[in-house]
This record gives sequence, structure tokens and C-alpha cells, in this order.
Amino acid sequence: MGNPTGMFHLILGHDQNVISANGLGGASLVNSNVFLETEQDILKMGYWPPEIRDDPAGLNKYYQKVRDVLEPEPYPETWPRLKKMDVFNEQAKTLGLQDKFRRAPLTTRFRDGPNSCGVNMSASTLAGQETTGANDGSKTSTLVTYLADAWNWGAEMFCKCDVRYIEKVQDIRGGYLIYFACHGKGRSRLTVGDVYGDLMWVHAKEAVFLGAGSIGTTEILLRSKQMGLSISDWVGRGMTGNGDILAFGHNCDVEVNALGNPNQDPSNPVGPIITSAIDNRNGHENPLNGYVIQDGTMPQAFSGILPCILDMMPGSRAYEMSLLGRTQAVMGHWKKRLFGSNLKNGPLGNTQVFLIMSHDGNQATLRLKDDKALLEFQGVGKSD
Ligand SMILES: Cc1cc2nc3c(=O)[nH]c(=O)nc-3n(C[C@H](O)[C@H](O)[C@H](O)COP(=O)(O)OP(=O)(O)OC[C@H]3O[C@@H](n4cnc5c(N)ncnc54)[C@H](O)[C@@H]3O)c2cc1C
Repeated sequence: MGNPTGMFHLILGHDQNVISANGLGGASLVNSNVFLETEQDILKMGYWPPEIRDDPAGLNKYYQKVRDVLEPEPYPETWPRLKKMDVFNEQAKTLGLQDKFRRAPLTTRFRDGPNSCGVNMSASTLAGQETTGANDGSKTSTLVTYLADAWNWGAEMFCKCDVRYIEKVQDIRGGYLIYFACHGKGRSRLTVGDVYGDLMWVHAKEAVFLGAGSIGTTEILLRSKQMGLSISDWVGRGMTGNGDILAFGHNCDVEVNALGNPNQDPSNPVGPIITSAIDNRNGHENPLNGYVIQDGTMPQAFSGILPCILDMMPGSRAYEMSLLGRTQAVMGHWKKRLFGSNLKNGPLGNTQVFLIMSHDGNQATLRLKDDKALLEFQGVGKSD
């Protein structure tokens, strides 16, 4: 339901949900800007095609090509100290993981001027707003790199075209027909039925490359199969959520300052959404036991619902706390009510956001039900 071309697209699955982003630039418009290469031990595993698993280092030249375009760099040492980074660093020491703590390479710009594709960029304002789209000109998204470059080379782009399925042309013309629904302005006035019942098409003479993300591409392929395209039965199987976890440290003893805000206090900036990582991917007997924990921020648009999320989290309920904890929680609750939840040293100012990437068992299946994508994970929440 909702606006089919709205920025955020939420797919409610069984056992796990997916958030993806629509727009010219896809999820890079709202992602967290971290540039990390996959571990070689992971690439050697049987999930990958032989070209990759037999020679994982063969990818290095492509990583370099991407690095040349996206120009990642860590949060500069000479820039202001950030509270959330300091707190996270202390936690790494407490966990005995100090040697795994590092500043993450980011596709955030820390200088003004043109990027590798000639698009003018601005240095980050350290607002921590990336996941609702940073509007300060510091986000090195696909939009300002590969798409801008493609445009410069003459590629044509059409927005609001929702590809439904692909058909192989059987006659002398050859190639493929790509059927799409057009959500363009005023289009509903021209169509008799709904936009999905009155599809438009374009003819690809030789080849079609799909780049609609793991959900969008799979959905198009599954529908194309239903419409007669010959496609492997594996499409839609073995999907993964990358063991992604969003977690919070609520009501910490010290200020964390992890709430995004486009109007920054220059003496106490929030910082980019992610600055550092406990990168514990290396050195495990089973590479799937590796994980990365990153410090995060909560963009301003979500800070209103954050108290509600936190109240529902395990450990936040009064009966699970000591008397002192209970008293502090109640005081924090009322401070929040009386003075607003963004109060610097209030519970939200002291709330820490963690983004965790690990592995799951690739147990998800995507299939079509009533012509819509249905995502089913099998017990991912209960698995090791
Ligand atoms: C909040 C968040 C934070 C993230 N942080 C990081 C990070 O720090 N580092 C990192 O490496 N990765 C991160 N990711 C993941 C990363 O952004 C994605 O893996 C990446 O954007 C995927 O690129 P893609 O081109 O495959 O697909 P997408 O970026 O999903 O792009 C697909 C595009 O296709 C369009 N589309 C979909 N279906 C159709 C259709 N039927 N017809 C026409 N168009 C269609 C969509 O509108 C979209 O524009 C994050 C993701 C999210 C959501």
C-alpha cells in the first residue's frame, strides 16, 4: 500500500522484513556510506560461482575500479572528536576487541569540490542524517557517480517506470520486450484501468541487464518466468538478510550524541552515520561466525518514534531492572516527557545506535503471491 514510487519501500516478510529505497540511485541514496570489501574466506565458500571462489583475489582489480569512482576515506583524524565514536572506542576496549576497532572507509565527502565523475560535492556537515538522505551534498551515491557518468556518456534514463516482466521476442526482431507500468504524473488520467493493467513496453534488441536490487530483480524474474521466460528454479531461493541487526544502547551513563540533526551544534557535532567499526570478521574457524559492529545514528525523522521502540526493547521493562535502574528509568522517562526527548543528556541524547552485519543461513525464499513479492525466512530469529 502507499505511494508505489515513495522513497522507502518496506517488504513485510515472515520472520524478517526488508527496507529498500526507490529513486534514481536506489538504496545508495539512504545507505550508511561504509565501503568494505568482502572477506576472502567468505568468497572461498561454496555459495559462490567457481570464477570467484577459486580466485577471490581476482576481484581486487574491480574493487580498485570502484574505489577510484567512490573515493572512500575514513573520518579524518583532524576533524572534531565525536562523542559516539569515543564511547564506542571505550566499549571496544572493554570487550577486549581494541585491535579490531578501526575508522571505517566511508563514501562521505570531507572536502568541497568535484568528485571522480565531475559532480560538485560539499564536505559533510556531520548531521548524521544519511539514512533519510543527507542533503548537504556529501553523499557519494550512485546518483552522483555511476549514473552521472552514464548520463555524460549518453545513457537515457526514465524514472517512475516500474518493470513488471520480460518476454523473449520469438520472431525475426529478436531480443526482449520489457513491460513496465508508468507511474508518471497524470498517467492515471490517461489509462482506463490501473497502471498495472495497462502496461507499456520497450524493445531491447540484444540484451537486458536488470539492476532492480535483490528484491526487485528477483520479483521481475519470477514474474517473467510465470509469463513464459525460461529461468532456473533457483531464482528466489537462498536469499539472505546478511545477518543485519539494528540495536540500541539506551540511557547510557554518558552522552553519546547520536541523534541526527540537520542544524548542528559545531562544538558538539553528531558526525557521519557511521564512523568506526569493530571488524571481527577475520580469524574464525567458520568464516560465518565473523561480524562487524558499527556505531550509528538515528536520523531526526525517526527520533519521534525512537522512545516507543526503546520502551518495547527487552531489558527496558521495569521488572527486569534493579531498584536503582528502575528509579533512573522513571526519572529519565519524566525528563523526556517534560523537557523533550532530544535533550542532550536525556535518555535519547545518551542513546547509542549499533548497526551489525553478520551472516544468516541464506534460508529466505522470495515467491509471488497474488502477483506480489512474498518473502519467507525460515526461523532466522531462532537459528545460531
Ligand atoms: C539503511 C541502509 C543502510 C545501508 N548501509 C550500507 C553501507 O553502509 N554500506 C554498504 O555497502 N551497503 C549498505 N547498504 C546496502 C546497499 O545500499 C545496497 O546493497 C545497495 O544499494 C544495493 O544496490 P542495488 O543497485 O543492487 O539495488 P538498489 O540500491 O536497491 O537499487 C535498485 C533500484 O531499482 C529500482 N527498482 C526496484 N524494482 C524495480 C522495478 N520493478 N522496476 C524499475 N525499477 C525498480 C529501485 O527503485 C531502486 O532505485 C545499506 C542499505 C540500507 C537500506
